[in-house]
This record gives sequence, C-alpha cells and structure tokens, in this order.
Amino acid sequence: KVRSVMQQYGRSEAEIKDLLKMTDQQIIDKLGGFPVDIYQGDTKRVWKLNEQMLDTLISKWKVGSILNAPGTKAPTVAQWQQWIQLIQKKSMKYLGIPDIYGLDHNHGVTYTQGGTLFPQPINLGASFNTELARRGAEITAYESRAANCPWVYNPVVDLSRDPRWPRVYESFGEDAIVNSKMVTAEIKGYQGDDNNHIDQYHVGTSTKHYFAYGAPWTGKDRTPAYLSPQMIREKYFEPFKAAALAGTLTMMVNSASVNGVPVHASYEYLTKWLKEDLQWDGFLVTDWADINNLFSREHVAKDKKDAIRIAINAGIDMSMDPYSVEFCILLKELVQEGKVKMSRIDDAVRRILRAKYRLGLFEKPNTGGKGFEKFGSAEFAAASLKAAEESEVLLKNEGNILPLAKGKKILLTGPNANQMRCLHGGWSYTWQGSKAEELSEKYNTIYEALCNKYGKENIILEQGVTYNENGAYYDENEPQIDKAVAAADKADVIIACIGENSYTETPGNLNDLWLSANQRNLVKALAKTGKPIVMVLNEGRPRLIADIEPLAKAVVDILIPGNYGGDALANLLAGDANFSAKMPYTYPREINSLNTYDYKVSEEVGTMAGAYNYDAKVSLQWPFGYGISYTTYEYSNLKVDKKQFTAADVLTVSVDVKNTGAKAGKEAVLLYSSDLVASIVPDNKRLRDFTKIELQPGEVKTVTFQLPAKNLAFVGADGKWTLEEGDFILKVGNQTVGTACTQTKIWDEPNI
Ligand code: BGC
Repeated sequence: KVRSVMQQYGRSEAEIKDLLKMTDQQIIDKLGGFPVDIYQGDTKRVWKLNEQMLDTLISKWKVGSILNAPGTKAPTVAQWQQWIQLIQKKSMKYLGIPDIYGLDHNHGVTYTQGGTLFPQPINLGASFNTELARRGAEITAYESRAANCPWVYNPVVDLSRDPRWPRVYESFGEDAIVNSKMVTAEIKGYQGDDNNHIDQYHVGTSTKHYFAYGAPWTGKDRTPAYLSPQMIREKYFEPFKAAALAGTLTMMVNSASVNGVPVHASYEYLTKWLKEDLQWDGFLVTDWADINNLFSREHVAKDKKDAIRIAINAGIDMSMDPYSVEFCILLKELVQEGKVKMSRIDDAVRRILRAKYRLGLFEKPNTGGKGFEKFGSAEFAAASLKAAEESEVLLKNEGNILPLAKGKKILLTGPNANQMRCLHGGWSYTWQGSKAEELSEKYNTIYEALCNKYGKENIILEQGVTYNENGAYYDENEPQIDKAVAAADKADVIIACIGENSYTETPGNLNDLWLSANQRNLVKALAKTGKPIVMVLNEGRPRLIADIEPLAKAVVDILIPGNYGGDALANLLAGDANFSAKMPYTYPREINSLNTYDYKVSEEVGTMAGAYNYDAKVSLQWPFGYGISYTTYEYSNLKVDKKQFTAADVLTVSVDVKNTGAKAGKEAVLLYSSDLVASIVPDNKRLRDFTKIELQPGEVKTVTFQLPAKNLAFVGADGKWTLEEGDFILKVGNQTVGTACTQTKIWDEPNI
C-alpha cells in the first residue's frame, strides 16, 4: 500500500552515500549540495548574468539548482540547450554534481518557443479522460528534454473548490478522485515507467502546491485556509497521497497557511505525513521566496534566519528564490550553532542527489539535439487538438441550434473571438501569458478557425468589447457595442465569445465574480436583435453570468483549451466532432451560492432539505459533472455484486450504457456513493470512480468498477478513518442501487 522505493536503487543510493562522505569534510560543501534556486525572471538576475557571475554562483556558492525563464519572451530550444549546457559544464567542473533545472512547463512547454501547448489542467479535468492527461504529460516531457530541461513544476492538484481563486484553471477541478486519478496518469506520462531511472525523454515532476492551497478564505491567492480535519484528510491531502504513491520525484509546498500554520513551517504536514507516514523519498521545494515569507508575511519567525531554521527543520529540502546567497550564510550559522542538525542537511542533500540520479543527470547532464525530431510535430499537435475537443463543455443547446449548419452568416463577437492569449491562458510563453500573439502565428484564433470551417465570407467579426493589452488582464477598451449590434443585421446567428483574458496567480485576484459589465451588456444588446445567440465562455474559473445565460440558445464553456482550442471549437460547433466533456467544478449562479457538489446538507444538488432550510435554494448555474452532447445516453441495469459488505471487501459495480442518439460519442461514466446515516454529517454524495467510453449509435457497453469498500470510509470526529455499519447508495447516471456495511471498522493508521 505504502510505497517504499528505497530498496530498489542499488548503485545510485551507494553513490549518494559516497558523495555525502566526501562533502562531510566541511559544512560549506554540504551547503553546496543544498541547492539554491536563483530567479532569472523579470528581474533578469540570472538570465542577463554573464559567465563570470554564473561562475561565482556555482564555484563559490555551490548553487545546485536553477529555475525559470526570462520575463520577456520564451526562449527557443537552441537557447535553452546552450544555457543549461553552460550551467552543467560549470557544475561538473566545480561540484562534480550536475545542477537540476526546473521550469513551469505545466500545460505543455510553456516557456519554450514552438512547442505544443495543451489545454490547461482544468480542461483535462473536464475531459474525464486520464489517458489524454497521460499523453499530454508524455509529450511535454519529451519537449522539455528537447530543450534540455529535466524537471517540471507540475502537476497541480490543488482542489479548486473556491471559484474566486485565480488558480482554479491550474488544477483538474474540485474533486479529490478526479485530481488523484489525473495526477497518477500524468506522473506516468512525465516520468515514464521507471521512477528510479527516468530516461532522457522523460522528466521529474513537482506535484504542487502541497496542500490545501485552493481553499483560500478570502478567495484571493496565497491567503489562509481554515479547514476541518475531515476536509484535509478526505479531500485536500488525497491527490498528494496519490502523487507520492505514484512516485512523484518532488513536491512544491503551498505558500499559504492552513488553520494558522504556514505549510512551509509544518513538521507534521511535511515530515510526518509525507516523509514518514507515506515513506515518500522525494524532495520538497519551497514555493517562491516562501522561507522568507515565514518572517516577512506570516510572522511565525522573528527574522530571516529564524525562518530558515523553522522551514528546514519542518522538512523543506530546497529553497526557491532564497533571497540569494544570504541563505547559505545563515544556514551555515544555524548548523554551527546546532539549531539545524547536520543529519537534517544530509537528509535534504540525499533527497536532492537521489532525484538527480533518478533523472540520469550524472551520466547525461544534457539532453536534446538528435532524437528529438518530434518537437512541435503534427503528431503532438493532433494530441493537443484531441484533448481540446474532449474538454470543451456543451451546457445548453435549445432547439438543437447546434451543430451550426454551413452556409449561414455568423456574427462573431466578444473580446475572446480573435486572440490566442485567452485560449492559452496564463503560463504561456510568459508568466502572465501576455506575449502569446507574436509567438502564435501558426495557431488559429476562434475567428480564424471559424473562417477555415465556414468560409471567411460567412463570418462577420465585430467584437464590441476588446481587452486592453496594455493594462491589467481585466482591463477592457471603450466598448463599441453599437457596432456589433449593427453588424448583427446581416447575420443569421451570433456567436459571442466572452470570458477572461489570461492571468496567472496573484495578479488574477478578483473583487467581483460577475463577468464584466461590458461583456454582459454586449450580450444583452445583441439579444434585443432577436438573432439566436451561441455563447462561448473562455475563462479560467466560473464567472457569474446568470443575467445573460437565459438570453443564449446554446452555451459552450471551452475553459482554456490551448493551441488548438479554436480549431476544436470549430469542429464541435460544426458537428465534425461530438462534445463529451463535463463540468469539472460546480458553476455558481449567485455569489452566495459557492457550493461544491458534495456539499453536506443538500439532499439533491440544487436544494437544501430539512427544517428551516427546506426552501433554501442552492443557486447553481450548472452542477459538477454536467455536460451534454449531440447524442443521448441511457443508463440501465446498475448492479453491485454484494448487498452486504465489510471493510475488507471490494465491490464490483456494473452498469449498462447505451448510445440512444444518432451520433457516435464518448461518455464519461461517473460512480457516486452516498452514506445515508453517519456519526458526522455525511457528504451529500461523493465521486468514487469514473471512466470514459466510446459508443456508436445504438451500441451498449457494460462498464464495471472495482470499488474497495474502504473507499467508503470517512474521517470521524476522533480524526480516525471510519467505515460505519449502515446503508449506502451507489449512483451512476440516473440509476441507484443500495448496499450495506455490516461491521463498523475504525483504523488507527493515518492512511488507509
Ligand atoms: C508559483 C508556482 C511556480 C513558481 C515558479 C510561484 O509563484 O506559485 O506555482 O511553480 O512560482 O515559477
């Protein structure tokens, strides 16, 4: 159950021991093995660095790890190769130990020109197709290594359970199982089949941000989370546990605090839960300058040195942006004063060296060149297109207005109609995704894709509202709604592409979840023309649209679909591809209805039951797991092989799914459970497993899930995993079946 890969090494583990012996001579040498990451982003501290400065960093300060890309524009493969080769040359010369380079290559090679950008993780969540996630990660790994980069800061499994948070789009959505299955698939794709010997076409992962980052109290980035022990264990920790068990090479730590404890300062979360309980032997890297933040922002340390002491003793192995070389000096003092034990430094160094061995950096510090001809290839593009098609969600299709027949005149409007930046989202060519246009010549905006599909003569482009590219991501130019309304005259149908411009992290904070007034006014004005509206949402989180949704005949949420998101949309709108995605999060209708699908007391999604609450509506726009297509599916025959079970059992659950429409399609089949009575308020329902199947018209397939009974356990009031005697209901589609646990079991182990 708990994976211990330690026995599996042999050679490399012995060599790590040797290296540690050598460096034991002097503390400063130890610190050399304790990498210092230097930011080379917007500040240009390292990118502009001349060879002499790099020399000093590596020879004097023994910098063992460097990260990130220049702030202005993504480098080419050749530039990356050259830069990382130079670093490796110096590391081997001065340290005899290769450096490790890390990049936010998180939905493709985001910081490398000409590579393949995939839909953002939220789209992969919506696809409910783990194979797409695995394949995307595999391609990103290959393209990263082509650029000589062996380490990526991905996957992200911060459950996006607060729609106000600006990083919602970076994870696979609100559910723990979706994130757990996706992260497992992605780690396989990134790292390959052998986590101990990651070959030159695969990379190490840094699963992030450990953990509960996606539950900020204020909805704003890097603000504290307050969560019950149940929420923590049952939900937020789960995907990280899955990542540890899948052998993620490294993890990055949550910048914020949980119940008042900054995660960077928590021995319990970092050392106890991960390194001891799970016996995970990877290394923990901080997030941006987060050791310093223990002092400057969180006020749990009295100065910088105290912050280092707390973080390293809590279990941090590597410091990202450690305010430069001061970190080494202070850490050395702490060791000399006995405030940080040498054994802790040894442990951190061992973990980092282990990762370098696993990545094959000692034998082959550089990769790329010959053997990487598939970089940016048509084969990879096709995989990105497929992922985009499977991840754009059809939410409404009144009177079957879609698919849109050819030959109609289309008014294409809205700020997202003709730019790549919003299709790529944040982390695309630059941190904020702001230089996307000049590096995206070969990709099609929605306008270009629709021209290709329907003929340029049939598309009238009048945006009405545009983003101000010189301002913040949310700045819009003076609207020209009248022009769009006038253009509607010549059109048979209106496609309104609205949503958000790209943003990343804290700059994406919001004060208002409603979609901008300009954009809503545009749709309202166009609705008055009486022409049918197809609303296309292109956004990283669910922006409120309750007042304009009724004005649209059809709604498609394309989320943030990447390089080929425009082409995918054109294929889907024309009916050349079928929709198959489902909402990866709950889409709220009102600001005071920020619920998740598992919300405790709601009997059914959308209604709260019980005295005092009986008519309180949970006002949802669309529930988690909702999505329609050009065909229909009928579920029947839901069966469970055991009407009674105990904790040791595995339940076999099967259901027949039939394509009852006229079009072939793919259906995500979702298995939920409800615990009818429990000693603490049970969740309304919980997703337990899912799969995706393809069905021709009229075809029936039987889907079978193996559900370990222990997965139905919850964390009780005493903090222990508990499976209670009593009735459960299993649900798939519109089918339900009952089963009962006959014997209560309580586990003492923290993980079951
Ligand atoms: C982000 C991380 C990212 C790191 C390096 C931080 O600000 O929170 O997700 O990996 O920067 O770019």
